[in-house]
Formats: sequence, C-alpha cells, structure tokens
Amino acid sequence: MGLTRRMEDGGPVASACGHAEPKNRLLSEARHQRKNAPGVGPRRQWKKVRQTILITLVLCGLVAVVVPLPALLAQGDKIVRMQTLNVRDILYVLTGGSNTLALMRDEGVVLVDTKPPGWGRSIRDNIESVTDQPVTTIINTHAHADHVGGNVDFPAATTIIAHANAKARMEKMDIFRGPNAKFLPNKLVTDRMSLLDGNDRIEIYYFGRGHTDGDLVVVFPEKRLAHFGDLFPAKAAPLIDAEAGGSGVAFPETLMKAIAELKTVVRVTTGHDEASAVMGSGTSASAINANPRTMSIKDLQEYADFTRDFLEAVKQAIAAGKNADEAAKTLQLPERYKAYDMTNAPVSVRAIYGELKK
Ligand SMILES: [Zn+2]
Repeated sequence: MGLTRRMEDGGPVASACGHAEPKNRLLSEARHQRKNAPGVGPRRQWKKVRQTILITLVLCGLVAVVVPLPALLAQGDKIVRMQTLNVRDILYVLTGGSNTLALMRDEGVVLVDTKPPGWGRSIRDNIESVTDQPVTTIINTHAHADHVGGNVDFPAATTIIAHANAKARMEKMDIFRGPNAKFLPNKLVTDRMSLLDGNDRIEIYYFGRGHTDGDLVVVFPEKRLAHFGDLFPAKAAPLIDAEAGGSGVAFPETLMKAIAELKTVVRVTTGHDEASAVMGSGTSASAINANPRTMSIKDLQEYADFTRDFLEAVKQAIAAGKNADEAAKTLQLPERYKAYDMTNAPVSVRAIYGELKK
C-alpha cells in the first residue's frame, strides 16, 4: 500500500506521492517550438493538423471536455501534456502520470523517466510531434512503476541508465519479465555519471538515501536545471519507501548534499507536481506558454528544510511518548509549510517511527 500505484481503466489513479490524477486531464498539448524540427514532414501532416485543431480549440476556450479525436480516445485517460522549458530549447517536460523530461536531440531522444505502465504511447505521440528521432536513451530516476513502467514502449532505447539498487528492484517487477528484460537498465550509476557534451551535457548524481536507496538526480548543467524525481515529489509530505531502502532520517541530509553540490542550478523539476512544475498559470488548458514556471532552487531549499523539520517533529512526538498514529494526528510544523499537501504524512510518520524505534 501507500507507494503502490493502482492502474485501472477509467478509475482515478493514486500516485506514489498520494495525489489522485483526475480521470480526464484536458488535452495533450505538444508544442512546435523548434522551427524546421526534423520529422514534421508529410508523414506527420495529419498529426500536425490534429494538433493545430487541438491548440486552436484550446486557445478558443472550446475544450472543456475531451475532444473526440481518434488517437486521443484510443489512449483512454493517459493524457500527457508537453512543454518546452525555454523557447527554441530542445528540453521538454511531459506531465501526466509522473513527470518526464525529454531532450530532443537529432541523434536520438533522451528520456528521463517513462511514466506508469501503458503510458509509453502517449509519450511517443508527443515526442513524434516535434521530431522523427526515436528515444535512444532512458534514465530512470528510481525503480517505482510510475517512473519506469513506460520503458517497454521504447524498443530503440539501447541505453537505459539507473542506480544499481534501482536495477535490482526492477529485476523483480513483472513488467520486466521474459523478453521485457531487455528494457532493464544496462548502464548503472553508483555515485556519478556524465553523459553527452556541450549544451546537451547531462550529469547524473546519487546523493544518498531518501525516497528509496537508489534515487538519481539528473542535471542539465548548461540549462541550469535539475530533475529530482521523487526526492522532491511536490510540496508535500516526504515519500519514504522503507522497503525500497528509503530513509526519513537521511532525507534532509541527502537534499542538503544536493544543494551544496549543485551550485549553478537555478531551476528544479519534481517527480509529480504538475501545476507548478510546468504550467505558468495553473490549471487552465489555455496555459500553453513557452517559458513555463518551474520550481526554483529556493523551493528545493525550502523542501530540504521541510524534510528536516518534519523529521524533528516526529522525533519530538517519540520523545513525548506518542505512538505513530497519535504523532501523525498531532504533528506540529511551522506555519511556512501550511500550503503543503500532507495527505501522505501518516505513512511518512510511520516510516520514520519504524526507522528510529528499531
Ligand atoms: Zn517513487
């Protein structure tokens, strides 16, 4: 429970960080940011027309419900939205299911996380609207199904990167059994890995235990952006998967280590937050903007403080002789975190109790 996603057609999906995904997200909004983007040839004409219709409808405020376009209907409720991080940039964020990044290189697309099982096609449809290049590299931030489930939908991905501990867990997942074992990571990170050069350079870090014992932080140094996966799922109670080696005690230290190391990073993307991860003005479908608001390094600092204060509050409850359930109900946190989503707090409190009361 808690950290396991339940995928059912048509039903709401409880995400790993405790948020419910709305049944019908508005619409897939692929952007044509790149002038002369490879792949917008005749083969893509219908897709382009379809998207033009779609964006027009969105801009006219006509899309309040799902527009009956065949490809969208065929995808059920797996609606992915895609936006560039900067005008003319090739780095995109795709929300829906969990947050995915895509670096649209002419030599093959690099994908960071692949959403839950069954979402790969929605990712592909978005990517194919801006490039003919296939996904050749996948980086999985950690082993949870809602971040690795789509791996199996990218047959051209010859390089799949994850932390060694994450791979060990993925090997036990049903989705990677039999012939699908080829979608398991084949390039393992222990502490650090560098990938590509120039503007496309990617630095991958492991900073220590937190959400699990195999969480990678993926940094695009030239873009001054870091993707934190579920080490920073949203402004919400920390997600601690103790069975997967997660630690509420190490969580704040791990985040502080990241902040100390990533001095040039300005923008941060999260594992699940949708409203402020990419959408400039929140929930409106007309919020197609080319320079979406992301979290900042300040938000990350605040989150590191939050995980430290959360841990401190649990320690106080233990000292006061409360059991985990009482602690969860009476947890006292500073006013500055009042907007945080605490849905998952009881699970996090129990995880920390389990860790400290051993
Ligand atoms: Zn997770």
